[in-house]
Amino acid sequence: MSYKDKLFASALECRLKAYAPYSKFAVGAAVLCNREIYVGCNVENVSYPCGNCAESGAISAMVANGGRKIEEILIVADTDNIVPCGNCLQKIAEFGNAETLVHSADLSGNIRTYTLSQLLPHNFNAKEVKNA
Ligand SMILES: [Zn+2]
Repeated sequence: MSYKDKLFASALECRLKAYAPYSKFAVGAAVLCNREIYVGCNVENVSYPCGNCAESGAISAMVANGGRKIEEILIVADTDNIVPCGNCLQKIAEFGNAETLVHSADLSGNIRTYTLSQLLPHNFNAKEVKNA
């Protein structure tokens, strides 16, 4: 089983735990870091801006376990081309690079693969902060 297949299976399973009573749009995410997989699901809140995306949860789990490098990330939802929101793309950029693979999966396992630079060609980065 390839890492992409493992990421899909992990994200799909985690998606079932999503807390999405308002949108009913459940999302699962899985991050690959040092041959370990970390998962997350979206967690909504009645105060909508307080909610968290699935990618954010997976990245937090990676960091909480000592991981600092996203090698690949997969997002799955009941749609044919889900991509991370702008906020999550910036979070992926923090721990990835231009060539980091971002996989977009539907529930049947059809997967489209992008590089981070395709989805976020220009990101805010540490170099900008150092120049301030
Ligand atoms: Zn997001």
